[in-house]
Amino acid sequence: MADVKLRLAERAADLIGSIIDSSTSLLARQTHDIVRFAMGAPSDDLMPVELLDRYAAYTVPGKYGYGSTEGEPDLVEEVLKIQAEQNYSSSADRITITTGGMQGLDLACKLFIDPGDLVIVEGPTYTNGNATALSYGAALLEAPLDEDGLVVEALPDLVARAGRPPKVIYTIPNFQNPSGVTLSSHRREQLLELAARWGSVIIDDDPYGLLRFENSPIPALNEIDPGNAHIFSVRTFSKILAPGLRVGWVDADPSLRPLLINAKQAMDTCTSVPAQRTVADFLAGGNLQPHLDRVVGLYRERKQAMRVALERHFGDAVRATDPDGGFFLWVTFTDSEVDTDALFEVALAEGVAYIPGSAFSTNGHFRDALRLCFATSTPDRIDEGILRLKRAVDKAGGSR
Ligand code: PMP
Repeated sequence: MADVKLRLAERAADLIGSIIDSSTSLLARQTHDIVRFAMGAPSDDLMPVELLDRYAAYTVPGKYGYGSTEGEPDLVEEVLKIQAEQNYSSSADRITITTGGMQGLDLACKLFIDPGDLVIVEGPTYTNGNATALSYGAALLEAPLDEDGLVVEALPDLVARAGRPPKVIYTIPNFQNPSGVTLSSHRREQLLELAARWGSVIIDDDPYGLLRFENSPIPALNEIDPGNAHIFSVRTFSKILAPGLRVGWVDADPSLRPLLINAKQAMDTCTSVPAQRTVADFLAGGNLQPHLDRVVGLYRERKQAMRVALERHFGDAVRATDPDGGFFLWVTFTDSEVDTDALFEVALAEGVAYIPGSAFSTNGHFRDALRLCFATSTPDRIDEGILRLKRAVDKAGGSR
């Protein structure tokens, strides 16, 4: 091949990709037994596979044609019912069906972020959220998290130091990815006040909210302040049903709908109609609540199994969060010599995979931490995986 110099767009340099997503192909290439704590996905036995297969086999006219960009009307109706169950009454003109939650994030960033705009993100936060904002040229400002979620009280100082208000605030309020923590009710109110003061859009990314297994739900931002045009909500069926469907939705101010449709038409025309129909028919069959009732009990068991295994194999060498729902534990090594970037290869060879903490920060923070997904493994496998992790730490020694 001739040595061709391609003249790339400047934005190509800002495409950072996702270590999380790349772990899928990395793990597929391994031939030895690996306990998989890396990807945030339900295990096959916790997806309603048989029911989805049955609904996928239904044939209706137009199922394999193009659909409308805003989404299949039956699915929009089902989405509104799910939201109404969560005490949030929305309307069809606020909903756009998306190709997974990722497309919702992409649409939000496309509509609100110009190169150089200040975007507040949680530190740590979902790798792909950072990647999406960066792909539109955002200047990311990492704000701290504690066990009550984003430390909203810290934002005014951070913003004063930045010298300008944030255009966007990106938050994952429930069972945050990667930390598992939940934004308290008081902080939700404060966040809404600050966003109003600064004129910032809040990207409210909540894929896990329906997967609560402990304590009572906290009202969502759009339940606290319905109709607030500054709340842009991103949702997905990936964690509550199955990620391979690639179906999600956004709930946003009706004035944004034409822009969302224009933007989506320039991406993928419409979300897969067969996938939308499968989800719509599954939901119309009244299958969601029984499915959630079954899986959340198992997730609770798996989370507890992971906390017990961490205590058994690591004792006070680690600190782990204790989420009320979702998929993730965030584990911090109290021994500052442990470097989870360097540990990764040793752990993989020992037969356990996780996501290193540094994947969740664009500043290289959190090399003393890692994310473990407890949703994908049974309690026995979880214990085995944590034992392997301990062996890897012992083998790697202090490697920072
Ligand atoms: N936001 C968060 C916080 C997530 O954890 C995920 C999935 N890992 C997504 C968005 C993307 O969801 P989807 O797979 O539906 O694109």
